[in-house]
Amino acid sequence: MGAIAFDKMIKEPPKINDMAMSCDHPDLLPLEEALRRLWEALPGPGSPELRAGRDDPATDRASMDGVALRASEGRSPRQLLGTLYAGSDPAAFTVGPGTAVRVMTGAAMPAGADAIVPVEQLEISGTIVRPTAAPEAGDHVRPRGEQARCGDLLLPAGAPLSAARVALLAQEGAPVPPLARIRVGVASTGDELVADPAPHQIRDSNGPMLAALAHALGAEVTLRSSLPDDPPALAAALQSTGDIRILLTSGGVSMGDHDHLPSVLRELGATILFHKIRLKPGKPMLAALLGDLLILGLPGNPVSAYINGLLFLAQALARLEGRAAPDPWRRGRLLGPVKNKGDRPLLHPCRLGEGRLDPLPGKGSADLVTLGQADAYAWIEPGGLETGVKTRYVMVV
Ligand code: AMP
Ligand code: MG
Repeated sequence: MGAIAFDKMIKEPPKINDMAMSCDHPDLLPLEEALRRLWEALPGPGSPELRAGRDDPATDRASMDGVALRASEGRSPRQLLGTLYAGSDPAAFTVGPGTAVRVMTGAAMPAGADAIVPVEQLEISGTIVRPTAAPEAGDHVRPRGEQARCGDLLLPAGAPLSAARVALLAQEGAPVPPLARIRVGVASTGDELVADPAPHQIRDSNGPMLAALAHALGAEVTLRSSLPDDPPALAAALQSTGDIRILLTSGGVSMGDHDHLPSVLRELGATILFHKIRLKPGKPMLAALLGDLLILGLPGNPVSAYINGLLFLAQALARLEGRAAPDPWRRGRLLGPVKNKGDRPLLHPCRLGEGRLDPLPGKGSADLVTLGQADAYAWIEPGGLETGVKTRYVMVV
């Protein structure tokens, strides 16, 4: 042991004591609670309520390509007066006895007509059409106001957005949020990370992995150089993050001598949303706000960084984009037993076939080989689960 390290051990009580005390505490923050805290700490959609500015549809409309006619005249032949397209002004025609107007889907109904007979149910000869089945009033007509009346509440204030709801905003002429992606920076921490590693060193696999994950989750990502295990250098990097909204770090949040991120964040005055959760892998997970910047301090172990990145980044992106909280969980039956001797829920790697979970012999949270083979991670409660039991799982993306 070098002189400096020895000196440090004498001045500071060894952190190994804390490590033993903190093992698998049942009072660690449950995953769902940590996700909720993250959600509530970020600004939600500030959209005003949305009300219908006019009846929807604003006039009776054809819902099929066909002819508009008077249903009471049954199957008798009609003389065609012309054609109305979606967007045509229906004032051009009035349907009287013995007449009909060709209409395309979405066209406004001409006055006098009360039904549409679709093309498939028509015999057409020149300008004469004859229905092959007797129509009924209202057939294939979307009546005015069928979906909403002018003034109806369509979305309450602050409603989460979805692509579907964007269509409603657009229909009503309300401002549509810009489709800008959330900017995410990714930075690994650790003195052991080098490009050309000696046996005691490693390459940075978390950085590229987390950048790819953030990209897959829809963020605009920049991968930064990895940061040394040095408090002043970490502090400087945290204070000059540029225009990103989220910083994804990995490493430096656990109980080792070089795990400086929590104390550096505290010294900078960051609000720690949580640190340490009840999950394996992923106990050291940290989330903090430094001004508007969200820092997701992922554990350094690659599987841990991956799983927590997947769960927490998806949640943060949804919130910042004004969407509803994502539910990444599916359910499936285990094709084999999985032990869990700890007192934290375990996420265990599995292959997936026809919705069934085939557990892989995972070798822990540093096992990138198994991470690369897994389709999903299955939730195993303390005590373990037997073959055939249904449990929830999250897909690898
Ligand atoms: P830490 O939480 O920083 O103590 O890291 C825990 C473990 O993850 C250590 O074995 C690290 O070497 C490893 N690790 C940390 N960062 C990375 C990274 N960027 N890529 C691969 N492994 C890492
Ligand atoms: Mg480290």
